This record gives sequence, structure tokens and C-alpha cells, in this order.
Amino acid sequence: MAEEIRKPPFDPKRKLMGARPGPGAAGPAGRGRFKKPFARRRVCRFCVDKMAYIDFKNVNLLRNFISDRGKMLSSRTTGVCATHQRGLRTAIKRARNVAMLPFSVV
Ligand SMILES: [Zn+2]
Repeated sequence: MAEEIRKPPFDPKRKLMGARPGPGAAGPAGRGRFKKPFARRRVCRFCVDKMAYIDFKNVNLLRNFISDRGKMLSSRTTGVCATHQRGLRTAIKRARNVAMLPFSVV
């Protein structure tokens, strides 16, 4: 009659949500065994600065959100919220079209 409480062997969604410390994250049997080498603070820079519009001409700002190969960084990496990630996407695309940012590097 003993019902086993079985955990799924691997849930990829857990990994995606890993940066958020949920309840019981610091528990004894929690997932505290692997710590990321560097933890970024998950705050959206644009929300902090209360920017409603991301200017595509502000290339120095946009360069923080593309990799050195010219690709956009994910919001998981940068901590940008979903609203501002959409604005950032538009701004980067516009900046590429006027040749202020590269589409790709090498
Ligand atoms: Zn934001």
C-alpha cells in the first residue's frame, strides 16, 4: 500500500527556472549542490531607469545586450524583463538596419 513518491528523472523546466530561489531552495536536500560560478542580479536595467522606450541610436547601450558575434543575448543572461526585451529586440533590429550594429561578426 505504500505509494512511492517518485521524482521525474529530469525536468528541463526546472533548469530554466533555476535562477529564482523558490521556497525550500536552501533546504537540506534542495538543489544547492551546484552553484553557478557567477550569479547575476535579476533586475531589469530598463525598469530601474524607468525607460519606456529604448532608443536604437544609443548604440553603446545596445552593445551591452549583444554578444561579440553580434547576436542578441537572452533575457536569462541579462536579466531584462519580457516587456523591455521586446523593446530591445526592436531597437537592435533598427540599429542593424541603419548599420549601427552588426548583423553578424565573421
Ligand atoms: Zn524591464
